[in-house]
Amino acid sequence: MTDLGTRLSAIDALIAEAARTNGRDPGEITRIVVTKFHPYSVVRDLHDLGVRDVGENRQQELTEKTAEPPLDGLRWHFIGQAQTKKAGAIRRSAQAVHSVDREKLADALHRAAVDDDRLDVLVQINLTQDAGRGGVVPDEAQRLAEYVLGLPSLRLRGVMGVAPLDEEPASAFARLREISDGIRSLESGATWISAGMTGDFAEAIAAGATHLRIGSAITGPRPDRG
Ligand SMILES: *Cc1c(COP(=O)(O)O)cnc(C)c1O
Repeated sequence: MTDLGTRLSAIDALIAEAARTNGRDPGEITRIVVTKFHPYSVVRDLHDLGVRDVGENRQQELTEKTAEPPLDGLRWHFIGQAQTKKAGAIRRSAQAVHSVDREKLADALHRAAVDDDRLDVLVQINLTQDAGRGGVVPDEAQRLAEYVLGLPSLRLRGVMGVAPLDEEPASAFARLREISDGIRSLESGATWISAGMTGDFAEAIAAGATHLRIGSAITGPRPDRG
């Protein structure tokens, strides 16, 4: 097996183990492989290994990679900060956007709809104390979720969060879980909790994450961005 395949199986085994430790079914957890900064050939290799969910955090890279011939069943998740003016390009390339953190961005994604298609979106929560970081502040999460529910071309799927560097991931993910519970009381279909990266996916699984965004543990170190 290739190094990529070896790392992928090793991480999947750890995910399954963390799920079982927490009394969860590994089958209810979606592992998204974050391919940012890696060449498109890595996406193809991952697809050959059975990966069907990949993530990118920059619109331009997402647009470039999705311009390649489509790979059967592959779903693209946009997980980065989005400029409002790039919303159309993101919507054309991604099947899910995890980083909706303001009404203007939700509006722009909605306006970019074509025909009756619906886009899966998550409200990104800022779990840090720094208001300049990505995500809506926790106090405003419910209001933003209600706003998204008013936009018919968007399907509210849940919440996304990144654990702060200066806090135990478990406590940050516990807050995310609480916010998720509140939003699920507005919309029962908003069940996704997108949380957990290379360094903290086990804690995220313990806190109920349904979607993990794992990059370097699977793809190897990111190439120099140049
Ligand atoms: C890059 C990135 C990840 C993956 O990070 P790793 O530490 O490489 O697993 C997850 N989420 C977001 C939002 C990212 O930008």
